[in-house]
Amino acid sequence: MADEVVIVGGGLVGASLACALASAGVQAAVVEPFPPEADAQPSFDERQIALAPTTRRIFEALGLWSAIALEATPIREIHVSDRGGFGITRMSATEEGLDALGHILPSRRLGAVLFQRLRSLSEITLYCPAMAHDVTMDETMATLRIECDQGRQNLSAPLLAVCDGARSRTRERLGIRLRERSYQQVAVIANVRPERNPAGRAYERFLAGGPLGVLPAANGSCAVIWTVPAHQADAVLALDEQAFLARLQAAFGYRLGRFLAAGRRSAYPLAALSAERCSAQRALVIGNAAHTLHPVAGQGFNLAMRDVAVLSELVAETLMEGGDPGSPRLLQRYRHLRRADYRRTLAFTDGIVRIFSNRLPGLTVARNLGLLLLELFPGSRQVLMRQAMGRSGWLPRLARGLPLVRASQETAE
Ligand SMILES: Cc1cc2nc3c(=O)[nH]c(=O)nc-3n(C[C@H](O)[C@H](O)[C@H](O)COP(=O)(O)OP(=O)(O)OC[C@H]3O[C@@H](n4cnc5c(N)ncnc54)[C@H](O)[C@@H]3O)c2cc1C
Repeated sequence: MADEVVIVGGGLVGASLACALASAGVQAAVVEPFPPEADAQPSFDERQIALAPTTRRIFEALGLWSAIALEATPIREIHVSDRGGFGITRMSATEEGLDALGHILPSRRLGAVLFQRLRSLSEITLYCPAMAHDVTMDETMATLRIECDQGRQNLSAPLLAVCDGARSRTRERLGIRLRERSYQQVAVIANVRPERNPAGRAYERFLAGGPLGVLPAANGSCAVIWTVPAHQADAVLALDEQAFLARLQAAFGYRLGRFLAAGRRSAYPLAALSAERCSAQRALVIGNAAHTLHPVAGQGFNLAMRDVAVLSELVAETLMEGGDPGSPRLLQRYRHLRRADYRRTLAFTDGIVRIFSNRLPGLTVARNLGLLLLELFPGSRQVLMRQAMGRSGWLPRLARGLPLVRASQETAE
């Protein structure tokens, strides 16, 4: 059968989109240069990803959650503080009526679960290793030229989903420009073993150089994501293990006792990137190719999963009605449905970075008062949490835990 969608990039977002489309019987091709096991696979590495409850619901609706949950550590409480300030606030799953505020797992594990599913789906043709080269569009089809073991091939479908990451060459080839703002910061990540088990508690601590996240991970360890000014990153990476632990301890304090051991460190330069538009003729740009966020609030992949949920719903609905999944009408509906969520999530993430990376004395006091107010007024905390958990605004079917295809007894909404 002919493909309805060609997906460029089988990273976290492209692979999730393929699983979502296949759940509604949509035929799709996925083009990815690196198998999930390869060290060079840029999407699946040791970085720990926090999955929000809405993302969990999407994976539940796709029947993937039980496999993901085996590898994931729940976050039951978040403790936010400002170093040297008086403000702290706590957010708890119980207060939100949930069993967890989110779940943490290495992106490599999530990638393995997604690829295991992809390889079992008759709706999906996986081209891996394969590299997208050129793209052309006409009135009815998008055609992607790829290079794989069999040589050069052309893949055509009515819709092209562009998921090849922040530095997307396909987006460039479509003539979509990128807006870029460097934060002049680098995220240093490492797995660390503390003396005391974090027992489901995540810490977000705001330091002069940027935020430090210490998240509960498997077997009583912690996933550290430490934002440092770009000019200090090489020095932090070059520290030997003991010196790194001492520096981390000084920054974090002793809430988890002493830090005993640290795994390999890696670094990610941080920038806010956004495509000036997310569509071109017969193409939609999603995931990091459309918007790359600061990881401070763990929103990037979670936002992209809402892209996945909306796009797969529109495609499935359109095909069921005998329509064209790459039509200008579908692209326009997608843009309309995603606009408010993008704006809210970008403003939320950027706001946190700006407010908490600024050391002006007046702002330090205001920031600490803000934390104190959040602590004293659960209502305001819940508004913030709804955004962080991806529960603000209209939600597509998968994000409400419903399958894409309506059961026959389900009334139309
Ligand atoms: C340190 C850090 C921590 C983070 N923590 C969180 C978090 O806690 N929660 C959260 O929601 N988000 C988090 N994020 C964001 C999250 O990692 C991204 O949102 C996610 O990786 C985006 O996935 P993607 O598939 O869009 O892009 P990528 O992960 O960049 O994947 C792109 C894919 O496209 C492929 N590709 C590239 N070129 C081509 C080509 N020419 N042809 C075919 N394929 C191609 C690549 O091989 C890759 O597989 C974090 C990010 C960082 C840096």
